[in-house]
Amino acid sequence: MKKIAITTLGCKVNKYDSAVIQKLLERAEFSFVPFDQQADVYIVNTCTVTKRADYQSRQLIRRFHRLNPDALIIVTGCYAQRAPQEIKDIPGVNRIVGIEEKERILDFVNGSPRKEVPLEITNDIPAFPEHTRAFLKVQDGCDSYCSYCVVPYARGRSRSLGKEETIKRISKLVDMGYKEIVLAGIHLGSYGLDIKPPSSLTNLLRSIEDEGISCRIRLSSVEPTEFDDGLIDLVSSSPIICNHLHIPLQSGDDEVLKRMNRHYTSNFFKKLVKKLVSAIPDLNIGVDVIVGFPGESHENFINTVSVIEELPIGYLHVFPYSRRPGTPAADFPDQVDSKTIKKRGKILRDLGSRKREEFYRRFLGKRLSVLFESKRNVDMKYLKGFSRNYIPVFVDAEGDVVNKELPVIVTKVEDGKAVGTLV
Ligand code: SF4
Repeated sequence: MKKIAITTLGCKVNKYDSAVIQKLLERAEFSFVPFDQQADVYIVNTCTVTKRADYQSRQLIRRFHRLNPDALIIVTGCYAQRAPQEIKDIPGVNRIVGIEEKERILDFVNGSPRKEVPLEITNDIPAFPEHTRAFLKVQDGCDSYCSYCVVPYARGRSRSLGKEETIKRISKLVDMGYKEIVLAGIHLGSYGLDIKPPSSLTNLLRSIEDEGISCRIRLSSVEPTEFDDGLIDLVSSSPIICNHLHIPLQSGDDEVLKRMNRHYTSNFFKKLVKKLVSAIPDLNIGVDVIVGFPGESHENFINTVSVIEELPIGYLHVFPYSRRPGTPAADFPDQVDSKTIKKRGKILRDLGSRKREEFYRRFLGKRLSVLFESKRNVDMKYLKGFSRNYIPVFVDAEGDVVNKELPVIVTKVEDGKAVGTLV
């Protein structure tokens, strides 16, 4: 029996796709080994969102070829979709599989085309390693074409999973024991626009609520222009939707935002965040920001720093701008040098750590509802769980708490970690 190893780079959507592939192959009775071990088949689910992601994807392929030069190496994901020729040229690569044809991986592993499809891949429900939190991809692709982003070229137009199918899958995941489901998408806020008649993320969430689903629902990233009052009301009043939102800012400078082809201003973003924070109790907002976009002057960068300083956000994800061939921004003049990008990145990462710690401190002495995961933090010998508002909380708990959502009082914040005790 062939041993298979799979590795995944990039976002939650890629992780979901890998989980689907693994499920499909396990169903066909193939066994999996960790990806740093000798395997007969290596599957690399690549990312292409930055130059570094491309590089890491190529490195992994080379590493697997060295580990077992006779292994079958199958490459899928966004990098494979965007630049198949670059991948083909790497020694050891046997197959490149597009994002929409993952079921063909089974043919390649089997060595011949299968006679019948064992299970419609889009109906499969993958398992996730933590056994507490599952991802469900309800949307893929993007029609927005931000000027720096290669994703629309790699993943194609926006497509959504129908409402009925989404609810069916959520119910199955709940039956499998998951207590939290993350609704994932490349551009989640555009959910439903491709469906006939058109729907929306708000409609989908309302239908999920109406079903009386008994688990927490977490949203992955939603674009700032996609919050309407209906969505805000729903998140603030819902007993199941987590008070945690991730919203890409990308730049706090209006000129830069325009050149990024992002259709809002820094003022719009500030007003939105303040409105969300006052409407949704204890809301944690995470923000993405890009440093070193072409033409980003010192002044433009300082504008971004001051917007973030001012905002009541809980954490920051900082991305150094990466020049992606084929995108308009790759040909923009005044590309920022890598030393400046690094310096700006550090300033923002430090600011992000401060924001995170300040946010955690707001909950000292307060009660949070924590869902415990199966992972034990090795250094601290604590069990780790996540609050509804996405604070990782470490608790020295005895007994069977894994996969339970329990009340915890936050007792201290140290080394950037929140520590608590069970109530
Ligand atoms: S919204 Fe913009 S940044 Fe996000 S995937 Fe689409 S093009 Fe890329």
